[in-house]
Amino acid sequence: MANSVPTVDCTNPDCGIPVDPSELTCPKCDTDLHNALSEQFYEIDVAHNGQTREEAKVEIEEGLNTALLYRFRGLKVIHGYGSGSSKRGAIAREATRFMETLAARKGYGFRQDGFNRGAHLIDFGQ
Ligand SMILES: [Zn+2]
Repeated sequence: MANSVPTVDCTNPDCGIPVDPSELTCPKCDTDLHNALSEQFYEIDVAHNGQTREEAKVEIEEGLNTALLYRFRGLKVIHGYGSGSSKRGAIAREATRFMETLAARKGYGFRQDGFNRGAHLIDFGQ
């Protein structure tokens, strides 16, 4: 689920069918879906299943591209936190630093996801 292309529900309350967000209008009712995802974050999960730090970085870069392509508000990366010395903990810290660097380079906002220490957000709208 985390890495499949998301669908968006048509914003027309009388329609509401799931639509591929690369469509700019609903194929059923023709509602404009340009901004349908503009309040949502595209979500990915990294540092799982023995993923290496390089794989985690690639996944974050691809996630960022997908989030931009589909006009999301930003990217949410769930990295977990593990214990300080665990492999997952090390990758989580590195993934967080990598996100911070990317966000700073491109002028996006960067912050922890509310009270969730295991996830961070890159916010295109700051
Ligand atoms: Zn529709």
